Amino acid sequence: MATSKFYALTHSKCPRCHVGKMFEGPVYGLKKQKMNETCPHCGFKFEIEPGYFYAAMYVSYVFSVAQIVTLGLATAYFTQSESPFLYLGVLFFTILVFAPFNYRFGRLILLHYLSPKVKYSPKYEEQIKESEDQPTS
Ligand SMILES: [Zn+2]
Repeated sequence: MATSKFYALTHSKCPRCHVGKMFEGPVYGLKKQKMNETCPHCGFKFEIEPGYFYAAMYVSYVFSVAQIVTLGLATAYFTQSESPFLYLGVLFFTILVFAPFNYRFGRLILLHYLSPKVKYSPKYEEQIKESEDQPTS
């Protein structure tokens, strides 16, 4: 069975083969996130054009706005505070905490859902299955 687009996206997989990893390691960790330049499985070049990932900023911008509005409203609801400093604090905290998440999923969503040129081709997944089926001597 072919890997679904949603699974591939949430597991940081390549948009073309759904097998190779686009990002190494977890979203949150002590090490800086590392994005592979090309897919380790099918060789797909993730930055399909120079500066392609500028468009990912729009996706992460939408994420940021949604997160800030949600947490801002939650703060207002739970604290009933009118202090602007509390809201500024919440705003900076939200931006910092979600930055790695927005960075990674901005790029993943751009490639998986918003790039008509990038097509999933199941043949790369079939290649592994064929090599697994080969009898070992
Ligand atoms: Zn790939």
